[in-house]
Amino acid sequence: MRAEIISIGDELTSGQRLDTNSQWIAERLGEIGVPVMFHTTVSDDLAANVMVFRQACERAGLVIASGGLGPTADDLTRQAIAEMAGVELVQDDASLAHIKAMFARRKREMPASNTIQAMFPRGARAIPNPHGTAPGIDFTLTDRVGKSSRIFALPGVPAELKEMFGATVRPEIQKVLSVGGIKKVIAHHRIKCFGVGESDLEGMLPDLIRRGRSPSVGITVSKATITLRITSEGENEQVARSSMLPTIETIRQCLSSLVYGEEDDELQHVVIRMLQKRKLTLAVAECGTGGLISNWLSECDPSGEVFKFGTVVRSPGSGAGLLGLPGEVTAGDQPYSPDFAAAIAAHVRTRAGTDLALSIGPFPQADSPTSVPGEIHFALARPAGVIVKSSAFAGHPEILKPRAAKQALNLLRLEMGDI
Ligand code: ATP
Repeated sequence: MRAEIISIGDELTSGQRLDTNSQWIAERLGEIGVPVMFHTTVSDDLAANVMVFRQACERAGLVIASGGLGPTADDLTRQAIAEMAGVELVQDDASLAHIKAMFARRKREMPASNTIQAMFPRGARAIPNPHGTAPGIDFTLTDRVGKSSRIFALPGVPAELKEMFGATVRPEIQKVLSVGGIKKVIAHHRIKCFGVGESDLEGMLPDLIRRGRSPSVGITVSKATITLRITSEGENEQVARSSMLPTIETIRQCLSSLVYGEEDDELQHVVIRMLQKRKLTLAVAECGTGGLISNWLSECDPSGEVFKFGTVVRSPGSGAGLLGLPGEVTAGDQPYSPDFAAAIAAHVRTRAGTDLALSIGPFPQADSPTSVPGEIHFALARPAGVIVKSSAFAGHPEILKPRAAKQALNLLRLEMGDI
């Protein structure tokens, strides 16, 4: 059974609100083995809604819609389903009693406009909504050749939608799946990598990313972090998970230390875990990344157990005295050299009294005669001395800062393996 998700509302199509319901529903369907082929977002327009529901029923056996079940003139979901199916709207007395009771509990009279929420396309069933006035609609559309599509229309309010999906919609879908003898679970696993570009990484893997492979492997990049997403199916969660193990193992072997974590791991989570395990403390000095590294690390170590000190230096000269940097280090063109990054790391380590200090050098200026244009330096001061790495950079300014910050954290991650 394939599914299609419809989100309804002007505030979605106009960009004022992000459609999070579709994402949530798609994830829940994936968990019970129902693949989603289309997400459609449509405005509060009756003709457009009728068209979208008709199209969805042609393409999918399961259609889940959210929004447009309120009492106002722009809430048109029930009318759209009725018109598409060529049936009239009829009142459901039990739903009307529930809506009236909801108002009575709030010590308010039910406005006449709310009676529309008790109207359903003929043949539909109400989906109870314990915490709202809008019941959902469960309707089956059967076409001329006998092919049917089951529609579940739910209110747009995310909390109500989630509760109703869990209490009524999911069990109903599972009933259909078990009658059809289809028992399938889809499992996902994400492997997180950093250190090379997307195509270089793909080239290091044997033909895993081709379409149609099972388990499938997808690749996405976000601000230089590469995520490999493995998806597999099975009759239950355990079978689905164990069938992806050989693929995970192959990826780990091929990519070795490029793999830094899994699922929601970011580099800072891994670095903080490594510091905690080794009982090492860290200080950071950032010149160019505006405190990004310190912000990430402090979020992962809220009590300051291992990340002890973070400083933002806005220009090579500023803060030199405070950090105790010798004059020659900040003089002239020196600030754009690897030596500057090394000196900052060493001095910050001494001043903060930490085991390690990480520094990121200033982003070079195009007119600096001695620096290589587009090169940034990272240094890690350890008990055994200072390590400096340089890296060329280019790209959109929005990407440069997070990528440089991640490169610094990655240097720390890789070097900590030996500490
Ligand atoms: P109500 O009875 O509250 O009017 P409804 O079914 O008519 O319910 P909408 O009016 O379309 O739902 O949406 C109610 C609220 O739910 C919206 O203001 C918005 O905050 C939220 N919402 C609606 N659709 C979505 C969506 N797809 N993703 C996230 N939030 C949504």
